Amino acid sequence: MSARPPSRDASKKARENGFFKDMEDDPPNSDDGDWIANVPGRPAPYTTTWLTVYGKRTSAPQGSGFAFSVNCEEGGDGAIEMDGQYRELNGKSTPDGRLQKPPVCHIIPWALLSLAMSDFETKNQKIFTEEFKRYVCWGDNSNLRTGHNGCNAGGQKVTVQNATALQIQTAKHFVEKCIIAQKGNVYK
Ligand SMILES: [Zn+2]
Repeated sequence: MSARPPSRDASKKARENGFFKDMEDDPPNSDDGDWIANVPGRPAPYTTTWLTVYGKRTSAPQGSGFAFSVNCEEGGDGAIEMDGQYRELNGKSTPDGRLQKPPVCHIIPWALLSLAMSDFETKNQKIFTEEFKRYVCWGDNSNLRTGHNGCNAGGQKVTVQNATALQIQTAKHFVEKCIIAQKGNVYK
């Protein structure tokens, strides 16, 4: 079955209306969700996402004042120290001082992945499944990395408005790679 792709405005509206909300597979109140920044329209991560990306963590020696650490790949500024529940210690920009897991950071941001997918949909007159969009966002670990809360929140953000042609091209190549990984079984 083929369907006309929604206009970018319509798909933006669908996202704003919480189109992806029913894709959450985290149980409600699960603290696994606490590391997710509020990015409107972005699909929910998989329940395994955090543990997979932070799988490189190492246990700290006794008496070091923290339980686990891992290098910050987002800012390249050294160790992220965590307590026994994987909550970031001394985290910057932690809402209300509440400890939470350090975030899973995107190398190519969702905004550009979303734009690249919209362009594919328009060009091919087909629309991607929600499962595929989720895979593009969270399914390929080569686009995900560790990061301090502060490193993820700080710095210049790449947006659709300020992205360079190369960044947009890189996002398109990444989506192509995901289509191949899913053997082309990506359209509604
Ligand atoms: Zn950092």
